Amino acid sequence: MSPSRLEAYCDCPLKWLGQNVLGPKEMEPEGEPTFRGTAVHFALQRAVEVAIEEGDGRIEPAVMEAAKKAITEAIAKIGKESANTLAARVALQRAETLSLQWLDLECSRDWPAKAIEVEFEFGCEADPETGREARDPLDLGDGIKLRGTVDRIDVIEADGERTLLVRDYKSGKTIWAQEKWESERRLQAPIYLLAAIQLLGGKPAAALYESVKDRKMRGAIVEGVPGASALNDRGKDAVSEDELQALIDSARKRARDAVMGIRDGLLHSDPAHCSYDGGCSYEWLCRTMR
Ligand code: SF4
Repeated sequence: MSPSRLEAYCDCPLKWLGQNVLGPKEMEPEGEPTFRGTAVHFALQRAVEVAIEEGDGRIEPAVMEAAKKAITEAIAKIGKESANTLAARVALQRAETLSLQWLDLECSRDWPAKAIEVEFEFGCEADPETGREARDPLDLGDGIKLRGTVDRIDVIEADGERTLLVRDYKSGKTIWAQEKWESERRLQAPIYLLAAIQLLGGKPAAALYESVKDRKMRGAIVEGVPGASALNDRGKDAVSEDELQALIDSARKRARDAVMGIRDGLLHSDPAHCSYDGGCSYEWLCRTMR
């Protein structure tokens, strides 16, 4: 079970059933936004990998040329492998533009943390083909273990202390300030931060959602941690260490409750949080909107 799937369950258990149990591929062919999002994630992954390989993990002027090349090559690779239609080729062009715009912004940002991991998988087997190491799952207690992939983990090391910041890229516009995490049932950023701390070691410093489309970053960052100035609403996103820990604990509890709900077969529709207008493909299952 992954944080993104648990988040779908928290949104609406019936939608989760449709997406994850009944067979999403047959009912919901990959659309243009999903294809574009996948391409953006891959392009940003390659750009940051280059920054780690050729620099210290930051997108700085010294690595810009190599990072731009990495984005162009990543998009070309996807184009060669899977852009078979005009719509797909247009989506790829858009993905390349968004990725290059993000790169320029990242280079100009006041962001002192260094990326140490991209597409960091946990709860996975070793894969000799890709060189991926086996990694433990995130342990939530009582036998509840999660697997998943963190888009990016950054570190700040100072005074012998290591603090971790996670960034969860979104290719759409919607991102969430920490004050909305509970009411909007968001889990991913705080759960990914918990996974980073548990598996890599360090103190929690930030869990952030980042809209590549809008070039905005929101979430939670500990007051005084360098990098807060890169956030778009520092007043609402800056929290104390205790407040960040409380946000992580809340997400952990909600993730555990979701797993328990799935185990107990609680599969009701949730019209109060219905995303029909936002793209739920399973209204035929619940008939809520008819
Ligand atoms: S249409 Fe709304 S209530 Fe029905 S399954 Fe989708 S999200 Fe749930």
